[in-house]
Amino acid sequence: MAVKWILADIDGCLSPDESVPWDMALFGRFAERVREANGGRGTVAPLTLCTGRPQPYVEVLQKILDIRVPSICENGAVLYSIVDNHPRLGPGVSEEKLLQLRAVRAFLETEALPEHPGAVIQFGKEAQISVYCERVEVFAPIRRRVEAFAAAKGGPALVINSSPCYLNISLAGVDKGSTLRVLLDELGASHDEAAGVGDSIGDLALREAVGFFACPVNACAEIKDAADYVSPFPNIEGMLDILDRPEMQRTG
Ligand SMILES: [Mg+2]
Repeated sequence: MAVKWILADIDGCLSPDESVPWDMALFGRFAERVREANGGRGTVAPLTLCTGRPQPYVEVLQKILDIRVPSICENGAVLYSIVDNHPRLGPGVSEEKLLQLRAVRAFLETEALPEHPGAVIQFGKEAQISVYCERVEVFAPIRRRVEAFAAAKGGPALVINSSPCYLNISLAGVDKGSTLRVLLDELGASHDEAAGVGDSIGDLALREAVGFFACPVNACAEIKDAADYVSPFPNIEGMLDILDRPEMQRTG
């Protein structure tokens, strides 16, 4: 079946996870192919983003890649449409849960993170929390403190997992998959008409929501096991290789 939409994670797929300069020659090739696809030219299916990154970061990439449909931000907690400059909360994010999550954030800022120098909250997120630290061994004790805090407060129910550089704290039931199902419905595409690319544990929910799923060679073991195709190349090189796959074409 021809695919109607490609959903691409950013970190570890379009760019390295580490804070290093992007390979602009390779990214330029990728951007040209995506602009062509999103303009209805060529054979590759159009592409939008499905990432843990906050809306302002996604907005820039939407402009670079000429993405006119909504993108998924904050691991599913936010959908952003550049056409009307309109961000909205993902399915399952209620005002009550947002208030509870803000209490978790305040607890992190005032109590849990000061115990771990170098651990910081990623700015710009509304309905999910990501903690960055070079020393990933601090994620386990921070996670235990957050889980104990939420349990003592009676909520919110949380899903906490880590990518190579971040500890991601999400509202339970809110993930890339649940929001992607809503987006695909809006776009008029079925599960089998969508393809996904991801690299870390949070992308398992993306994997479940699409018919074909691929990853670059730097993906974690769980993602490689779940993928239909594992590129032998890393990051953006892997992404360019994946775009050549027959399952990524909009024409059968
Ligand atoms: Mg990633």
